[in-house]
Amino acid sequence: MITEYEVNGEKVFLIRRIIEVRFDKSRYEKLAKKYPKEYLISFSEEKKVLHHTTKRPLVYVSKESGIPLLGHAAFGIIDRGTNLLQVRPITGCNLNCIFCSVDEGRSSKTKKTDFIVDPDYLLEELRKICEFKGRGVEVHIDGQAEPMLYPYMKQFLEGVAEIKEVSVVSMQTNGTLISEKVVEEFEGILDRFNVSISALDQELANKIYGTKYPLKKVLEAVEAIANSKIDLLIAPVWLPGINDEEIPKIIEFALEIGAGKKCPPLGIQKYIPYKGGRKLKNVMSFREFYERLRKMEEEYGVKLVLSPKDFGIEKRARYPSPIKRGDVFRGRIICEGRSEGEKIAVVRGRVVTVLTNKNVGEAVKFKIVRDKDGIFLADEAS
Ligand code: SF4
Repeated sequence: MITEYEVNGEKVFLIRRIIEVRFDKSRYEKLAKKYPKEYLISFSEEKKVLHHTTKRPLVYVSKESGIPLLGHAAFGIIDRGTNLLQVRPITGCNLNCIFCSVDEGRSSKTKKTDFIVDPDYLLEELRKICEFKGRGVEVHIDGQAEPMLYPYMKQFLEGVAEIKEVSVVSMQTNGTLISEKVVEEFEGILDRFNVSISALDQELANKIYGTKYPLKKVLEAVEAIANSKIDLLIAPVWLPGINDEEIPKIIEFALEIGAGKKCPPLGIQKYIPYKGGRKLKNVMSFREFYERLRKMEEEYGVKLVLSPKDFGIEKRARYPSPIKRGDVFRGRIICEGRSEGEKIAVVRGRVVTVLTNKNVGEAVKFKIVRDKDGIFLADEAS
């Protein structure tokens, strides 16, 4: 699980192909005379921890870290007041999609920190919230990330399968890290993969995904899913003026391979320019988008205009939130935030993203300015 190598004057330990622990090589050689490497990897203050894919600093969120799993949009658990819980075990992505709503991937201009959540901690917190929600919960693993980069995914899914309130476990993925072996391993512990395939043409796919995209591998992976017990939803993002001609081809492909055993086979997504995301020139109106989907529904005889009901999603009481907009707190900054100018503070068992120039370890007074869906943003207060 650990490989080691040296690069650019640094000694690197790569754990589970995602967590890079780096030391200055000459310092490491001195320290290694006194301490075992396992000790240095776990406890040395001189190490740097990076996300292997993005090369950004990586925060390991464990129970001991004191970082709660509620309150942040990028990691932990999000409850939007339904029977679906979004679970985000890792940040960082191996693609650089030109439409990415969260500006992810190695070419991100805004993200400066990544997070990974300890699987036992994630399960412990998830169990509590599922118990509150009651029977019929869908655990949906997604993120500002490619979730399949999470190196503890199988272990985590096995734990989720034992939570009695959970009836569906699904995952949003770009599909690039799925193989036949993964499909075999996940049978029985994962109910559905939502795979975003937005082009069937290699050159266009490279352009859309902002990297050399393994199209053949992804197509083989989705066929393997379709032939397994795991359900498959193909979820292209429709980018007007870029992949219009691909959409009908993707519909035909999804129907041909037998996507959608219980769920709809396709979940075509409208490109929406988000604040902080990557922007494209052409944006379709919702009206036009749904009109065109309805036309294609008739043409292909398949449901394309979807609603939460198609996935059994219903309203449920929200997990109680101990903080609200307007509240003012004083707290210590416990780590860097996800983007430039953001820091993480903890109050009343919740993570709050604070916009401040203060450093990690310093105290800061802040006012909650946004509390949507239990995700908290605060401005520094005087
Ligand atoms: S796969 Fe998803 S998270 Fe990754 S760059 Fe593309 S849109 Fe962003």
